[in-house]
Amino acid sequence: MDKIKIVIAGARGRMGREAVNLVNTTPEYSLLAVVDYKYEGMSLKDLDGFDLDIPIYTDIDKCFFETNPDVLIDLTTPEIGKVHTKKALLNGVRPVVGTTGFSEEDLKELQELTSEKGIGAIIAPNFAIGAILMMKFSQMAAKYLSDVEIIEQHHDQKLDAPSGTGLKTAEMIAAVREEKQQGHPDEKELLDGARGANYKGIRLHSVRLPGLIAHQEVLFGGDGQTLKIRHDSYNRASFMSGVKLAVDSVMKIDLLVYGLENLME
Ligand code: NAP
Repeated sequence: MDKIKIVIAGARGRMGREAVNLVNTTPEYSLLAVVDYKYEGMSLKDLDGFDLDIPIYTDIDKCFFETNPDVLIDLTTPEIGKVHTKKALLNGVRPVVGTTGFSEEDLKELQELTSEKGIGAIIAPNFAIGAILMMKFSQMAAKYLSDVEIIEQHHDQKLDAPSGTGLKTAEMIAAVREEKQQGHPDEKELLDGARGANYKGIRLHSVRLPGLIAHQEVLFGGDGQTLKIRHDSYNRASFMSGVKLAVDSVMKIDLLVYGLENLME
């Protein structure tokens, strides 16, 4: 079987380094190049912490033209991740995007472009398989315990809040319960934000602290009982089995899949 030819954008980052390791150690994958905004013409081995002779491109179109990859793995920032995803689709390259912070309009635009191009694309705000199960179990629980709050906790370098996973969990819960206002109807916030963000009545709280990686608790309340569904990612290697699932799957589909849960039945 032919190897899946891969380009990675964001390879110097914390997720990107794990992705380079995943691609490099997976026999059926081949890492062709990385995309960066600096170090044009250099090799990964010229950078700290890498010993791979892989070319670095600052022009993603040139990279696609010269290397002809099957898949782009993007682990950058929301603004540039969106540009990379569009350019991948326009060049017939299947994007696997872990970058978080895309808006609903971004997703709609990318969905339209994907259908126009007729190739696979996967955007997954969380690649941790355990986190996907947490979301699925939460959706199941919300059918029976409809009062719920989400507390997501991340490292203090994270740019977006709430997290993509927190928001996705709220969306999945909202899809199976009647919209309702939780808490006392007359409650007042004495400090702005004390009750967290509000997604269709579901409260979302974002904690940002050094030392954390990615954690989330979904807390359900009913008469005389609570249920907590919790997931913790202790390092970024926890995301790589999901990246592999996405890369393998994106080769077999011809539409945009948003969320790894749609690949796990
Ligand atoms: P990070 O360590 O800051 O890595 C981002 C990398 O992208 C940095 O090396 C940055 O370079 C680079 N970059 C910035 N602009 C670029 C450009 N134009 N072209 C190429 N590379 C560029 O962040 P991270 O923790 O790895 O996370 C990366 C993304 O994945 C974030 O959006 C994060 O929220 C998301 N994430 C997703 C999951 C998931 O499961 N889906 C899990 C964790 C994180 P500089 O450092 O020089 O700016």
